[in-house]
Amino acid sequence: MSNIKILDIELANQIAAGEVIERPASVVKELVENSIDAHSTSIDVFVYEAGRKQIRVEDNGDGMSKEDASLAFFRHATSKIKNKFDLFHISSLGFRGEALPSISSVAEVILSTSNGKEGVQVVVKNNNSTSKPYQLRKGTIVEVNNLFFNTPARLKYLKSDYTENANIIETIYKLALAHPDIAFTLFIDDKLRLKTSGRGDLKETIMNVFGMNTAKNVLPFHYEGDDFIVDGFIGNAELTKSNRYSIITNLNGRNVYMPKVQNAIIEAYADFLPPTRYPFVVLNFTIEPALVDFNVHPTKKEVRFSKEQDLRLALINEIPKVLLRQNLTPSVSIKPNYEVQDEHETKYEQMRFSFKDSASEENNDKPLTFRMSSSDEQNTSVLQQETMQKHTIFENIRPVAQINLTYIICEDGEGGFYIIDQHAAMERVNYELFQEKMGLPNFTRTPLIPIIIELTPKESLLLTNERLDILKKLGISLENFGGNTYRVNEIPTFEQGYDENIYIQNVIHQVLYDDKLDLNELRKDAIATMACKASLKANQALSIDDMYQIIRRLSKTTNPYNCPHGRPTMIHYTKYELEKLFKRTGV
Ligand code: ADP
Ligand code: MG
Repeated sequence: MSNIKILDIELANQIAAGEVIERPASVVKELVENSIDAHSTSIDVFVYEAGRKQIRVEDNGDGMSKEDASLAFFRHATSKIKNKFDLFHISSLGFRGEALPSISSVAEVILSTSNGKEGVQVVVKNNNSTSKPYQLRKGTIVEVNNLFFNTPARLKYLKSDYTENANIIETIYKLALAHPDIAFTLFIDDKLRLKTSGRGDLKETIMNVFGMNTAKNVLPFHYEGDDFIVDGFIGNAELTKSNRYSIITNLNGRNVYMPKVQNAIIEAYADFLPPTRYPFVVLNFTIEPALVDFNVHPTKKEVRFSKEQDLRLALINEIPKVLLRQNLTPSVSIKPNYEVQDEHETKYEQMRFSFKDSASEENNDKPLTFRMSSSDEQNTSVLQQETMQKHTIFENIRPVAQINLTYIICEDGEGGFYIIDQHAAMERVNYELFQEKMGLPNFTRTPLIPIIIELTPKESLLLTNERLDILKKLGISLENFGGNTYRVNEIPTFEQGYDENIYIQNVIHQVLYDDKLDLNELRKDAIATMACKASLKANQALSIDDMYQIIRRLSKTTNPYNCPHGRPTMIHYTKYELEKLFKRTGV
């Protein structure tokens, strides 16, 4: 009797899963790559409980026929390569035919798909597969439930939700940067975490992912060699990082880690960055598939490229040229966040809001309050032009109603709607406004009416010079007025909408009782206090104009999705979700 046995399919799949499906982010990667291979232009990812409970990827790609949908779960079943020639000319992200069988060996999978002609739903659970006809628009939804339910060791080995979610976000944004022509959204526990516009503009995608400040500090890079094309954006010398994680390289649409190429990029920056700082780079390499071998490792992270040395030299030579050209442009501004002028600027200009209503011409420099002030005093601050953050989701938002005097309901322009918490939204706006203002030289003034405060003896004792100094940096300068009495000589200038006394009391209290005296932290607290007090409360009636103004101002913040305390400012229901809730999609 022989000792060698051919493994049964179930076991073989689980072993493969061990290699391909390490963690929830691996599932996300495989599913999204399948959606990309299926020519999707829009891919939505939903993750619950760090992917342990559910990962769902919805695309509008080619879909599958009934037959293919069932075949897809067999090992080595792939539509992407047919023969050896194809293996050495890979143009798709997948080709090993391992992902779906691997995933379904360690989770419950529901695949719903339609190729526009017929729809089908395949449920694979405990190695059992059932399928039934299913109504769906063209595209595919893959739902992965209870990941690693049958491999407790794997489950135990997962990191904290925070880390797993971070891995998922990173997976998506790297794929999004490799595919700026695909609109991605990522929701984690129903919170929108990432949204790219999918307009094919890599700089816009960089902005969607990393924010305006990063997008403002990148330079276009383009190089054509004999065997490859390099395209993308490279950070200028102001955009430095403390580690290598912001060097993002993609090869033929796939995020790849090429250590030698990464080192070449770092070398190219040697004369431009301080030692121990690393550049920000997003480069997409387009290389003739025959010259690339992705079939090195199951996750395809590693790659062999026969002309790697040429690519390295090209980067080492060309990157400094682009950076030098940039250095010849004089730095015209000492203001923070000045706009780098380049050919993309006009595009962003066009992307800005164009609300029809002139009554809502806002003054971005004012705290956002309503009916608390009517004076429109001139303000020449630089902030107005320069906080123009763009979040494309706001482009088509149209407020239609207010409910409970607390929430603004908006159509999203695509058949769905947003619920915006008016107070949280305004806190975010004011928070960022105050944050910018606090750095400016003239942010304090003498109070109109003298303010005298009384401290307790203990508080007087705590009021060291260091604390006095910190208070000054937070806009409050105190002078001893005899005993435990102090006079407030200076307060922040943002006179509208915030209660000076409350601000002074809260901030002094915070500074006195803080042991660490971390200025950054205290500043954040102080600003959040001010923003909260200055912000519109719930229970305030808003006109449609008011609502437009709130949304418009919110859209320009760096993070419109959360208030300074981390609570969400908005909840989104897409058309699809509504249809699903009303059971219109044949669920
Ligand atoms: P691979 O991607 O290596 O081919 P997978 O197991 O990931 O293997 O997928 C198997 C097959 O299922 C794919 O070759 C493709 O034909 C089909 N498929 C998977 N996901 C999708 C999708 N989102 N849209 C259309 N077809 C898909
Ligand atoms: Mg695949």
